[in-house]
Amino acid sequence: MNKKNLTRREFLAVASTGTIIAATSGRIGAYASKTAGKAAILGGKAVRTKPFPGWPVWDRNAEKSVLEILRSGNWYRGNGKTVTEFEKKYAELMGAKACVCTVNGTNALLTAMHALDVGVGDEVIVSPYTFIATYNVVLGSCALPVFADTDPETFQINPDKIEERITPKTRAILPVHILGLPANMGRINAIAKKHNLVVIEDACQAWMAEWNHKKIGTLGDLGCFSFQNSKHLPIGEGGAVIGNDEELMDRVWSYHNCGRPYGSIKKTSNYPIIGTNRRMTEYQAAIGLSQIQRLEEDTERRNRNAKYLTSKIKDIPGILPHRLYKEVTRAAYHLYPFRYKKEYFNDLSRDRFLSALRAEGIPCSSGYGPQYNDGLIEDALNSKNFTRSFSKARLNQYRRENHYPDNDQLCKEAVWFGQNMLLGSKQDIDDIADAILKTYENRDKLAQSDKNSSKYQKDSVAL
Ligand SMILES: *Cc1c(COP(=O)(O)O)cnc(C)c1O
Repeated sequence: MNKKNLTRREFLAVASTGTIIAATSGRIGAYASKTAGKAAILGGKAVRTKPFPGWPVWDRNAEKSVLEILRSGNWYRGNGKTVTEFEKKYAELMGAKACVCTVNGTNALLTAMHALDVGVGDEVIVSPYTFIATYNVVLGSCALPVFADTDPETFQINPDKIEERITPKTRAILPVHILGLPANMGRINAIAKKHNLVVIEDACQAWMAEWNHKKIGTLGDLGCFSFQNSKHLPIGEGGAVIGNDEELMDRVWSYHNCGRPYGSIKKTSNYPIIGTNRRMTEYQAAIGLSQIQRLEEDTERRNRNAKYLTSKIKDIPGILPHRLYKEVTRAAYHLYPFRYKKEYFNDLSRDRFLSALRAEGIPCSSGYGPQYNDGLIEDALNSKNFTRSFSKARLNQYRRENHYPDNDQLCKEAVWFGQNMLLGSKQDIDDIADAILKTYENRDKLAQSDKNSSKYQKDSVAL
């Protein structure tokens, strides 16, 4: 059998660690001249010293419109037109009937939960692999976040693990398009329909991503976005709920504006419905309008560079790039993820691998940890909100089932690059790939130094 002709997956399936070097040396040898040499963390020369593009990026247009609003004194949306204009533009861009802006993404999610009447005593199926806000909005609504394990290949909620988590109390699925890669909305919507559940999309990392050419955030009952400083449409703080059902969107509007009647929300009495104040300000919207202008081009560039990066690293042993579902016509790439298999790097720990990349001038992160093991969940289950809303038997069953082996494994292997790194040039992407390959080439020495340093740490603890 000619090992060079194996696909990567076949290769990983047949190759034992011992045969990898022989099998791949021919394939990746072409890069060798650029990546040969001592790892920077061991005293060699770094692949790059130049920083990656900064974030956020702003321009003079924003300066002018923010100043105009400042000087007008009309900072509240009721006195201006800027938030309304932003909502109209964002709804158009997403292909949604309506958009309501909120103070941030967390509050967009809370608003969507309320508008769909998901709350006290309900169970919500959600991905464990997400930003903590997704956990918090469910817990904060006194609903039980019931996690369905992650598919490590896609980094998304595993659709095969959803149905087994549904109980008579389940009211909603809250899929998160984490890292800006779409979750399997085809399967999720089919399951929701079968079990009569509502779907709230946490699209807080997935602006402009698409499933079969439809924008992420328009596939569920409601879609929620964040415009926080690090996000692709950055405002500092900001968020939005989008949807196609006008009555439901009227309820969203009313709730976010102190419960005042709006559109189809007509009360015959002269008091409001239950509501709160989650309104966006005029100057937030002005920044949003200037940022919206660059979103299409940035998205295109991130997708192009992500694809190129995948093509360059997919054959490096032990590097498993993320998989996109075939229905994904575009991703957002808030982060670029892959899995690191240390067995192919002579057992070099992921932490040491990350440190080695950083020393080569490549910023990187290990991503989310297994947050369901943190005290947060147990504290919530013990709180009076939960002990009053759920039976003891249900909470105990929940505790017993609160284990997600695939997600645990993913948390140990994930490596992320930030979205700004995908906004650079082809040369920037070459540097990332070269640094990974160089680290691979140096794996034996790095693994040796890793072992020595952990031995040293143990010794020093013993002293
Ligand atoms: C950023 C984010 C949120 C919360 O948005 P904020 O605007 O920071 O409140 C929620 N979910 C996910 C997945 C996010 O990345």
